[in-house]
Amino acid sequence: MSMMSMAMTTNTHMEPQMRTEAAVGRRKGIAGVGLALLVWAGLVAGAWYWVQRSQEEAPVPLHHLHVEGAAQNENQAGQEEAGTATTSVAAAPEVPVIPLPEDAAVPASVCAPWLQRWAALSRTLCEQAQLAPSGAHSVRGQPIAWRDVAPPAGQAADLRVLVVGAIHGDELTSAVLAMHWVPMAQAAVAQDGRAVHWRFIPVLNPDGLLARPATRTNASGVDLNRNFPTTDWERDAPLYWEKRTRRDPRRWPGPAPLSEPESQFLHAQMQAFAPDLVVSIHAPYGVLDFDGPQTPPQKLGQLHLDRLGVFPGSLGNYGGLHLNVPVVTIELHHALRMPARAEINAMWRDLLAWMDKHLQPGGGVL
Ligand SMILES: [Zn+2]
Repeated sequence: MSMMSMAMTTNTHMEPQMRTEAAVGRRKGIAGVGLALLVWAGLVAGAWYWVQRSQEEAPVPLHHLHVEGAAQNENQAGQEEAGTATTSVAAAPEVPVIPLPEDAAVPASVCAPWLQRWAALSRTLCEQAQLAPSGAHSVRGQPIAWRDVAPPAGQAADLRVLVVGAIHGDELTSAVLAMHWVPMAQAAVAQDGRAVHWRFIPVLNPDGLLARPATRTNASGVDLNRNFPTTDWERDAPLYWEKRTRRDPRRWPGPAPLSEPESQFLHAQMQAFAPDLVVSIHAPYGVLDFDGPQTPPQKLGQLHLDRLGVFPGSLGNYGGLHLNVPVVTIELHHALRMPARAEINAMWRDLLAWMDKHLQPGGGVL
């Protein structure tokens, strides 16, 4: 705009002067340049105004935006970015963990949002697992559900086993495998007489599971499997994230260890339930990992032992190295496609066989 003013001022200043032909010619030249500048400035100003207007008004109905956004998200499945869907929902107040009632069986309410989100999830499978709200909630206030399978009252448990799925919300198969194993644990206790107390938490990260697209991280953009209080977390976890992952938003360890309600809940289980074994289910690397002092299982079904390494803030690192509680980490081959039923059974059989051989009642090392 300033150029346009300058051009006009120059032109006006020349107007009453110079009546000779040469002067007129010069005046015409200057006027031509001035006109060109005027047109150019007008175009720039017009474009600037148009851009500002279109940005400010966003003249699209809200429902249209919503639908468009959802479709776009569906198309971007697998490319989710952490922390993109955290607006507008405040963090839920922290709720103390309550003990599981004896006859807790409100499966429909727990399963409903998951079934709505994932058409591939079997209603029967989810409801048969008889998951109940634990009393703990995610960042967005979703209940974190659990299910205990224990020996009958009066019979002490020799071993306590914690099975955790969907620490990463975009690994649906990990949640479904845990649901499959609930009735198998019931059979192991009731029919085989195993004195094992199982605690299943199939979906530790319900916000990530329910997001569109599903996210590895929780609703605060934190990778829960980097948020556990391992030794020197404050130094190592941010350093690892910056140098090794190059600030990958899918792997942000969070602002502090146990900064998230989901990791706080699992940490509380590690203390209160005091498992002799943790089974942490993931996808899609197709391997078996192990942390802890025991002899690791060489295979579960078709998954073979292949140690992935030690990560600051991971559950395996925290449980296996910090607490000396063995952590079997299962990496299924696919995040959205379940293994065959025979493979689900084979993994379970191999897990029980390894427990029989290497876990002593009370957590000793064999
Ligand atoms: Zn994972």
